[in-house]
Amino acid sequence: MVNRERILEEFLTLVKIDSPSMHEREIADYLKQKLSSLGLEVYEDPAGEENGGGHTRPAGNLVARLKGNTPGVPAVLFCAHMDTVEPGRGIQPVVREGAVYSDGTTILGADDKAGITAILEAVRVLGETGIPHGDVEIVFTVAEEIGLKGAKNLDANSITARTGYVLDCDGEAGTIITKAPSQYKIKASIIGRAAHAGISPEEGVNAIYIASKAISRMKLGRLDEETTANIGVISGGKATNIVPDLVNIEGETRSIDPDKLDKQTALMVSILEQTAREMGAVANVEKEFLYPRLKLDETDQAVQIAVEAAKKIGQEPVLAGTGGGSDANILNGYGIPTVNLGTGMCKVHSTEEYITIDNLVLNARYVLEIIRTAAGKTA
Ligand code: ZN
Ligand code: CA
Repeated sequence: MVNRERILEEFLTLVKIDSPSMHEREIADYLKQKLSSLGLEVYEDPAGEENGGGHTRPAGNLVARLKGNTPGVPAVLFCAHMDTVEPGRGIQPVVREGAVYSDGTTILGADDKAGITAILEAVRVLGETGIPHGDVEIVFTVAEEIGLKGAKNLDANSITARTGYVLDCDGEAGTIITKAPSQYKIKASIIGRAAHAGISPEEGVNAIYIASKAISRMKLGRLDEETTANIGVISGGKATNIVPDLVNIEGETRSIDPDKLDKQTALMVSILEQTAREMGAVANVEKEFLYPRLKLDETDQAVQIAVEAAKKIGQEPVLAGTGGGSDANILNGYGIPTVNLGTGMCKVHSTEEYITIDNLVLNARYVLEIIRTAAGKTA
């Protein structure tokens, strides 16, 4: 069964390999070798080139497959990301009171190496035992932390599973994210006309005034239980004696409901365009679709299996929603019903990040139990 020492050792090895986003070559090579040695077919897709890393050998996503040993059992996909945020170089893990921390100068990288560790251990156990299982597919993505870029460029045709698990969420094993919004980014430039503020203000068209007018016409914040909107960046103007001719604005919309998302996005775009027009300026507005939603029900097989497996390892299953996006959103967009699972990582994206060894072990047991539970279903 799962081996605590081996899990800890693997985790410590992984966090010591530097892998900031777009610098995943070393960890990708390590994991390729590891997965092959465990008997999986491994393929590195060309996402690295598409992400335009500018490195000599940018790493792509790793897609691996462990062949099933039991016919008629559905394939299951597990996904975790290889990259980490900064400060994430030269990580020196410290084991203290049953948990792993960094030395305080860097992040730890449990986000998301705790996920990778669990998947590797489960695969190792499958190799050592005769546990019946279907195909186990694994995706280790690059560039998750800089906008889910690896997953967005994933060669999804190489995946056959229609049940997926991303291990990349806070909360302990048993936390199952079944809802996460889709998101648009909005970027606008309001172009007015510059003039001397004291001598000839009549000749000016004040872009700051127009931007503030437009924003005051918008509803922002939490619009309903599944929709939010924000203007997060505004910049413009040069001096108090110049009527400003340019303002740049950036905002976003999120919703679990695609219609509400489209409507709110279109509304913000049209308010910007219309207000500028009314006041003698021009608004150049762009919207960019960032990622699709994640929305699964209790009756979906991916959720059912996660719930059953959580109970089997003695964890209370908790179905939850989140306001953020993850690789699970992108995988759902490819038509692979995928939930995001809690791994017990704490204080991520900070130098205080840590995870308990108990959680590292629990995660491996959970992945294994999901594989077993899935094997009880028919394809
Ligand atoms: Zn993460
Ligand atoms: Ca993260």
